[in-house]
Amino acid sequence: MLFRRWFWVFFSVAGIGLPACDRGHGEPSATQSNALGRAPQAEPASPPRADPPPREAPLSHASNAPSPRSLAAPRPSLPQYDEAALRERGIRKVSGRHLVLYTDLPVPVADGAPRLLDQLYPVLADRFGAPTPHDKDAPWRVAGHVMADRELFREMGLLPGDLPDFPAGISRPGVFWVLDQETDYYRDHLLLHEVTHCFMDSSLGGRGPAWFAEGNAELLATHFGSDGQMQFGRVPPSPDEVERWGRIEMVQRDVANGQVLTADDVMSLAYSRFDDDATAYAWSWALCAFLDAHPRYLARFRQLHRWVREPDFNERTRTVYAEDWAELAEEFQLFAANLTYGYEFERCAVDFRPGTSISKGERREVVVASDRGWQNTGLHVEAEARYTLAASGRFSIADEPRVWHSEAGGLSYRYVQGRPIGRLVASIHGDQPAGRSSMLDVIDVGPSSTLTPERDGTLYLRINDDWGQLSDNRGEVRVRIEQVAAERGR
Ligand SMILES: [Zn+2]
Repeated sequence: MLFRRWFWVFFSVAGIGLPACDRGHGEPSATQSNALGRAPQAEPASPPRADPPPREAPLSHASNAPSPRSLAAPRPSLPQYDEAALRERGIRKVSGRHLVLYTDLPVPVADGAPRLLDQLYPVLADRFGAPTPHDKDAPWRVAGHVMADRELFREMGLLPGDLPDFPAGISRPGVFWVLDQETDYYRDHLLLHEVTHCFMDSSLGGRGPAWFAEGNAELLATHFGSDGQMQFGRVPPSPDEVERWGRIEMVQRDVANGQVLTADDVMSLAYSRFDDDATAYAWSWALCAFLDAHPRYLARFRQLHRWVREPDFNERTRTVYAEDWAELAEEFQLFAANLTYGYEFERCAVDFRPGTSISKGERREVVVASDRGWQNTGLHVEAEARYTLAASGRFSIADEPRVWHSEAGGLSYRYVQGRPIGRLVASIHGDQPAGRSSMLDVIDVGPSSTLTPERDGTLYLRINDDWGQLSDNRGEVRVRIEQVAAERGR
């Protein structure tokens, strides 16, 4: 079920305060954002435009649709301004291979943007295909405006009269506008977000439904690392790398308030939701980040862009994932519930193969690695049967600032998700499909425990730790599991 709040509530999570006015970058509505004329999610028609929209190739709904390259819209020409007049009023031009930027910010603010885009460009080209060049010697280029004084840009004719009001950023094919932000990171992030929209317009001739357009823009704009080795599209390792971005905190807050969006909920978000709800960006980012990095889903995700011009994009997406949609949807719930900086999809991917049962008196021994998420024990447990679990072994749970050794009882010096770090915990993947994943119900185990499952299902174990800090754990525990009471009916 989808619960939404309509008023932004200020509070701070993990030391990051998000002000009440932080409403994301406030995208245009569907038709404004999707300025090539497509209106997914049946949004209202776009307002009249003063300048004619760039023409696009005819839509194709044939199942053997041509490749994105042949569908790509013609490249819009860059706006021509009286640059001497702009300079006189304090608007300077910063040029790079792929970006011509007009800004009233002082040198050197925003001067790194062309270099940043140079690093993002190959990633965009890899994801969506390089836009067809008009001239093989001229690189793809986009024009941008980063504005401290919006009125100045309006006065100088750099802000078209028909451009809707926007709180932070907006784009049309080939051109974007971004308002100055409090941090360098977030200004660059918004710029790359809008550039991603422009790139998809050029390369694909469309953006697809809101979750895909905004999720990809958020995903690929998220960057960290050093110049020349910038990483895009990954879960940031820490909030310090992405000041004022806050998408992870938004999802965490929704989860804490019981307002979890399912994969279906996210895919159903209408463009209009992005006007007044920053969390729509956060959840779209989360779904795209999940599909783009999860070892089982990423190859298919990276093919979806072929269909951005198709009205049944979401249906096609569900078809592509039809075989494992239930698992995908369940694992997205687990991802959202455990999302944190540094989350690693490989370590946390869930093996959903069903386990096999043991009978009374029978024993199994399993090994639980300390550096992974939920691990399938291969054991099917039955409701109302009783099992004893006994763990042995020692592992280390962190290596900085010092190595912390732990056994399955955990260390009370730090609690994660309400339990001591290093403590052995369990969950059961129920046989009966449910809207809410049964694996969200964490069962305390510790060094030894008697388990009376509430449902039939496959047993999972893990060592409790921050989901984003598993990579510095070393070692494992061995867990002996024995059924001590017969299952019902036997
Ligand atoms: Zn956007």
